[in-house]
Amino acid sequence: MDRTLVIVGHGMVGHRLAEAVLALDADSQWRIIILAEEDQPAYDRVSLSSYLDGKGKNDLALAREDFLHHPAVEVRLGCPAVGGCRAARIVRAADGAEMRYDALVLATGSRPFVPPVPGRDLTGCFAYRTFDDLDAIRDAARPGHAGVVVGGGLLGLEAANALRSLGMRPHIVETAPHLMPAQLDADAACVLQQHVARIGVVVHCGTAVDSVDAHPNRTVRSVILSDGTVIDTPLVVFAAGVRPRDDLATALGLERAPQGGVLVNAYCRTVDDRIWAVGGCAAVHGRCYGLVAPGYRMAASVARQLLGHDAEPFNAADTFTTLRLPGVNIASFGTSRPGAEGGKQMVFAEGPTRYAKVLLHPDTGVLIGGILAGDTGSRAALQPFLGRRPPADLEDILLPSRPGRPGS
Ligand SMILES: Cc1cc2nc3c(=O)[nH]c(=O)nc-3n(C[C@H](O)[C@H](O)[C@H](O)COP(=O)(O)OP(=O)(O)OC[C@H]3O[C@@H](n4cnc5c(N)ncnc54)[C@H](O)[C@@H]3O)c2cc1C
Repeated sequence: MDRTLVIVGHGMVGHRLAEAVLALDADSQWRIIILAEEDQPAYDRVSLSSYLDGKGKNDLALAREDFLHHPAVEVRLGCPAVGGCRAARIVRAADGAEMRYDALVLATGSRPFVPPVPGRDLTGCFAYRTFDDLDAIRDAARPGHAGVVVGGGLLGLEAANALRSLGMRPHIVETAPHLMPAQLDADAACVLQQHVARIGVVVHCGTAVDSVDAHPNRTVRSVILSDGTVIDTPLVVFAAGVRPRDDLATALGLERAPQGGVLVNAYCRTVDDRIWAVGGCAAVHGRCYGLVAPGYRMAASVARQLLGHDAEPFNAADTFTTLRLPGVNIASFGTSRPGAEGGKQMVFAEGPTRYAKVLLHPDTGVLIGGILAGDTGSRAALQPFLGRRPPADLEDILLPSRPGRPGS
């Protein structure tokens, strides 16, 4: 162990990187120091909502005892990095400790974006990203009362369902004309909206939160929307997107991408060839990926580089996004965004409960993306055809026969 790797951030991707390095490091070259801002070792953030459904912190833990007690690994919990000196190859932690590194990887993830509305700091306003956030939401929940979620994307829908499970009556406020605007078109969103209405979630699309009003004791009293609606509520959850946590790039004199994120090349390397960035904080050629699967590919690539193996450049091929809301199937993949130009679209729909759209490359005709909403085929059935010409029975895959239908 004559070389020191410092990983800043013990989230999903930082942890995956450490595990990948240990797995490849047959000669025990690396000693790994992980600086973790949270008091908790890495956990499955993607499954965070299940924490309100009865799962415990241990059920979601990614870092097991053998990892935490590995002789080559030191995890410093509650010890965020605040700066450093590239010339001296030193990272500095908030407690004043300084660590010399041979390689430094920033894996600081993202922070929730909270729109600058008056009242957003009142007692009763929360984000939805960490165990601490969910503990605070659980403590503040008032069964039978309305709860407001700001943001109608994947996270907002999960948060609304969490409020439901805590006995509250959730309202979602989304500025776009329909839910999940980043993934769905209006028809697919319609399938989703009908489902959420059925399970008791009130949706306010095409309007924004103007302000959060307070009781005299500075706790949340109500939310005022720009269309004049007033929702009396003790609790507001902001789930309006995330921003990369790139402050350390500035502190270390590294470049940030114009839209934010630590600027790295396709190998996740910064201009300093001893410093990489992976996961939510990394802007690969200027673009950040808020999903975990691309982060895991970045971690695998950097681990190989640290052990002197050939590594594939990161390729931006998109991955599937699935909404975790019981009772409805909503997924999007590849180039499925509304407004994606140039592809040939094929739409298969049946009534208000099933909608599927695929996008084919304009020149080659291969499948490059799509949307599944409602009672459609599963993403697993479609995944093998991504990047290939779709099969002749595509419609049967997308709208499989239901018992009792002709042809079933
Ligand atoms: C409820 C929820 C559901 C999600 N569902 C999905 C999903 O279905 N699919 C999907 O792909 N993605 C999903 N995501 C996003 C997914 O969790 C992220 O893509 C993933 O966690 C990114 O991993 P990361 O390690 O880059 O960042 P994170 O997991 O955010 O970890 C970064 C860590 O770094 C720490 N840190 C930050 N700054 C410092 C510092 N200066 N010093 C030390 N530590 C620092 C942070 O405290 C954090 O612990 C979801 C997120 C949430 C909140």
